[in-house]
Amino acid sequence: MDTLSTTLLVIGGGPGGYVAAIRAAQLGIATTLVEADKLGGTCLNVGCIPSKALIHAAGEFAQARHYAQESPLGIRVTSPSLDLAQTVRWKDGIVGRLTGGVAGLLKKNGVHVVGGWARIVDGKTVAVTTAAQETLRIVCEHLLLAPGSQPVALPAMPFGGRVISSTEALAPQALPQRLVVVGAGYIGLELGTAYRKLGAEVDVVEALDRVLPAYDEELVKPVAASLRRLGVHVHTGCTVQGMNAGGDAVRIRNAQGEESALQADQVLVAVGRRPRTDGFGLESLMLDMNGRAVRIDDQCRTSMRNVWAIGDVTGEPMLAHRAMAQGEMVAEIIAGRRRHFTPAAIPAVCFTDPEVVVVGRTPSEAAQAGLDCISAMFPFAANGRSLTLESGEGFVRVVARRDDHLIVGWQAVGRGVSELSAAFGQSIEMGARLEDIAGTIHAHPTLGEAVQEAALRALGHALHV
Ligand SMILES: Cc1cc2nc3c(=O)[nH]c(=O)nc-3n(C[C@H](O)[C@H](O)[C@H](O)COP(=O)(O)OP(=O)(O)OC[C@H]3O[C@@H](n4cnc5c(N)ncnc54)[C@H](O)[C@@H]3O)c2cc1C
Repeated sequence: MDTLSTTLLVIGGGPGGYVAAIRAAQLGIATTLVEADKLGGTCLNVGCIPSKALIHAAGEFAQARHYAQESPLGIRVTSPSLDLAQTVRWKDGIVGRLTGGVAGLLKKNGVHVVGGWARIVDGKTVAVTTAAQETLRIVCEHLLLAPGSQPVALPAMPFGGRVISSTEALAPQALPQRLVVVGAGYIGLELGTAYRKLGAEVDVVEALDRVLPAYDEELVKPVAASLRRLGVHVHTGCTVQGMNAGGDAVRIRNAQGEESALQADQVLVAVGRRPRTDGFGLESLMLDMNGRAVRIDDQCRTSMRNVWAIGDVTGEPMLAHRAMAQGEMVAEIIAGRRRHFTPAAIPAVCFTDPEVVVVGRTPSEAAQAGLDCISAMFPFAANGRSLTLESGEGFVRVVARRDDHLIVGWQAVGRGVSELSAAFGQSIEMGARLEDIAGTIHAHPTLGEAVQEAALRALGHALHV
């Protein structure tokens, strides 16, 4: 068996692992990265990027169909059609460009990439089974765990046949006539909306009493209204019992205990993801755990010396940008820099229609934390740019401390608000006060003006509402 020595060994080439490897190599650390599947991990291959590509394609198709009916803009088209295979090829092209880019960056920076399944032997040794079924032993000084997460299956409806996870939903070979989505979190709603716009009949089943249950109620209202307009049938307060005997319908039960069945050519189970902790010898390290996640401190150190963990394997929030930020930090700590992972806020975006952004605390979270806060919202109905984009729905809301006006949270719902997440994140991270945002000249006409106006409104003198 060949043995290789390295300073840093990274398990997993997703956004956490590949960013850590690139940064470590930039800092002169001998780095080896092991990836069993494709570089880029869930995010680039079966997560963030392909889902946003599909959402975009579906949105454009829905828009074309909308123009074919009637358009206040005066645009007229005749019955558009969809070449789904080409849509999937286009999406795959983007994924290919990005994963190829990651491979290029790792090479350019001198990271040694090993393709194969890593199995932990001990805190300093990993055995890798390559595609050619050869075993390579890698000995390291630092072991970084970045194996990501896996979709959670429903015991009553395991994956297989008509029951699919987001991975299969992102590579459709044909459009199902009827799709049932189980789980109205962001992944279920993003994909359910995309499938509806592509032309499928979509039912969404959610056990709790509203869609996006993890999000603030006011933010979710425009999303729920849009689902109704699109013709997505939402069944809240309902639990899934399994498939019917014929295997072509999902049995659901409502809060009153009444059962009914939803016809389904496909069932997308999107009830969450769990840290990947099985199948690679992690248990042999006997690390302290936090539920199913690997417990880490604010430097991403596990309970074993020189064993680090980042990204989804460390639990919520399971987001690519958190994984990347942790990876970059761990590389710098190993290189001797003093760093801690203490972000003031980690943005969360739902690419639903309309989009939702949450950065920092909502008014109720601020109250729960014992902060005396003021909050104000500015509606996009009063924002010129929104109207020129055919969308006046949604709002921007700011939450700030009453005493010194320090901004502790931003939320927005509306068309294109995902792009406001940078401004929101920066203002909180830089310790901005309401006066800083209100006093910054925001370009006209942009959605950003709603950000300034929310701050002005919190100060009691909004100009455009
Ligand atoms: C449909 C969908 C949409 C999403 N949309 C967003 C979004 O819009 N924004 C956002 O921030 N996040 C989004 N996410 C979440 C995001 O993809 C994850 O948070 C992110 O990919 C986590 O990165 P990671 O590096 O921790 O793990 P992963 O990206 O999961 O990468 C882990 C890698 O490790 C490899 N691996 C695991 N075990 C081994 C082993 N033993 N040996 C070798 N290799 C191994 C895996 O093959 C994988 O490539 C989405 C997820 C899904 C499923």
